[in-house]
Amino acid sequence: MQNKISIPDLPLKGGCQCGAVRYVLTNKPIVFYICHCTRCQKQSSSAFGESFRVYAADLEVAGEMKTLQRTAPSGFTFSCDFCPNCGSRLFHQREENEAVVNIKAGSLDDTSWLKPAGHIWTSSKQAWVIIPDDALVYEQQPDNYDELVKRWAEIVE
Ligand SMILES: [Zn+2]
Ligand SMILES: [Zn+2]
Repeated sequence: MQNKISIPDLPLKGGCQCGAVRYVLTNKPIVFYICHCTRCQKQSSSAFGESFRVYAADLEVAGEMKTLQRTAPSGFTFSCDFCPNCGSRLFHQREENEAVVNIKAGSLDDTSWLKPAGHIWTSSKQAWVIIPDDALVYEQQPDNYDELVKRWAEIVE
């Protein structure tokens, strides 16, 4: 079993790089996981994408954002929100499931406590990324996120 992690006192706060868009999360996240797919690598211009999944009803956003649409190979269409001033990508949302939002976790003001429940698309992860033995691992897209959500609930306190 992984070491327990503590979610900081609510609300959690975050925002874009320039500060024009700020957000407040008033409830605990549903799950936090890492995606090593090549699309997340391209989108973030980095090693992987961080998905910090929350209920949209728990998220309050201040500031102007722009939105673009992306269709994944799975066929799902996503809305992707970003700050038009600095370009930081902040939120992804499946169009057919607007009840939940994936926050790009690097936008949180305090990222020191984060630890993912698992890793998906490890078949395309960068070679230097070492995944802990006790993490949930999926070589590609999981059929659903049930196991990841369950693991997250087990490791947070
Ligand atoms: Zn900005
Ligand atoms: Zn991905």
